[in-house]
Parts: sequence; structure tokens; C-alpha cells
Amino acid sequence: MKEEVRLIGENGLRLDGRKVDELRPIKMEVGVLKRAEGSAYLEWGKNKVIVAVYGPREAHPMRIRDPTKAIIRCYYNMAAFSVEDRKRPGPDRRSVEISKVISDAFESVVLTEKYPNSAIDVFIEILQADAGTRCAGLTCATLALVDAGIPMKDLIAACAAGKVDGEIVLDLMKDEDNLGEADLPVAASPRNNEISLLQLDGNLTKEEFNKALELATKGVLEICEMQKEALMKKYKK
Ligand code: ADP
Repeated sequence: MKEEVRLIGENGLRLDGRKVDELRPIKMEVGVLKRAEGSAYLEWGKNKVIVAVYGPREAHPMRIRDPTKAIIRCYYNMAAFSVEDRKRPGPDRRSVEISKVISDAFESVVLTEKYPNSAIDVFIEILQADAGTRCAGLTCATLALVDAGIPMKDLIAACAAGKVDGEIVLDLMKDEDNLGEADLPVAASPRNNEISLLQLDGNLTKEEFNKALELATKGVLEICEMQKEALMKKYKK
């Protein structure tokens, strides 16, 4: 018989001691790379992410230019040493998908119409991965875009909620992501709660979905406050 792994203990706490609605510890720093126009570093639980932003600059090749606005190109990449078993270097289906959903999310907040025919390049490097890296990457990329002076309607941040041991929990770590029943990453703006990324891996009932969405949005708001603090810290210097 398959041995059942309990992810939420009798005391209601998760394997890493968190409550169901608690985020992993998060640290952020803005302006960490000398040669990028904007940069940021983020640690989120065991995830470690660095982001460099270049642009707006003339888009090449010419056929990709849009005379009405800038294009945003996010490149999500996991380092070979970021996971337990070495990850094969280079793009794969997963990184192409994540790069696309993050680029699309920024389309809704960056004032791209100010920079026709341009490209804004966002390099998201995952140095260490422990689930939730698309959320960590997007959250860190927002800081790097602000650091690069790119005008935006609002900050955006991302956070996942999911279902573990039949309960809706915030911010799944790797074991919960592997053994849990569902994962719902969400990106949103604090000002109007507008959702710019929403994906679902696994199954949720309508009620569970609504509960998970509400919890993830609450996580996003907490993270946006941390983003503001990290930005203030940089610009007060
Ligand atoms: P996210 O990191 O946004 O949660 P996934 O749900 O696709 O995205 O991945 C969950 C976790 O699985 C990652 O954070 C990482 O720890 C691990 N993972 C993803 N891809 C690989 C891979 N190619 N090799 C080993 N581990 C991986």
C-alpha cells in the first residue's frame, strides 16, 4: 500500500512550520548589477533569482518592431545548478511558456506606447529553484524594471496559492508542489487588483478556486509592500 505523506500536521502547520496562509521568508534588493540599466535580486524561501533589464532600445530585427509601442521580451532561464538534478542548459518548453506569460503580464502595466519601435529586454535568471519561480521571477522583474526607470501604471507582484492535503494554502514550496493537488499562480496590481497572470495546475472546485484566488491576491498585496520597501531603501541611499 502507498504510504501517505502528510503535508499539514495535526497542529495545522506545514512541513516548514508555516501556517496555511503564511508566505515563505522573502528578501529583495534593487540595483545589484553595475552593467544592467535596471536590476534586482530576490530570495523567496529557497528560491534565488536575479533580474537584469536593458532598454528601451531599438528593437532588432526590424520585422519585430511595433510603430505604436515597445515590445517586452522576458527571458526566463533556470541555471543548470538551480535544481537537485542538473537541469539541461538552454530553453525548453517550460521556460518558453513562463517567458511568454511573464512578458504578457508586463504588457498590461508598462507604458509601452511611450517607446515605439523599441524593445525592453528582461533577463530572469533562476539561480536556485524550490517551486514558485515564475512568481519570484515576475516579482523581481518588476523591481528591475522600476530600477531601469521604465514607466509603469503600477507595480505588479505574483504569488501562488494551492491545494495541499485537501486544504487551500498560500505559497507552495517544492514538496507541496510535488505532492499537492493544485497550484494557482496569480500576478496582480495592488491599486486595482487587476490580474495580469493566472494559471492553474491541478483541479479545484469553484469554491476552492475562489478561496485560492483570494488567498493568492492577499499574498500579492503583502509582497507589493515588500517591493515598495526595497525600492525606498535603494532610492533613500
Ligand atoms: P514554478 O517554479 O513557477 O512553480 P513549475 O511548477 O513548473 O514552476 O515547477 C515547480 C518546481 O519544479 C520548480 O520551481 C523547480 O524547483 C522544479 N523544476 C522545474 N523544472 C525542473 C527541471 N527541469 N528539473 C528539475 N526541477 C525542475
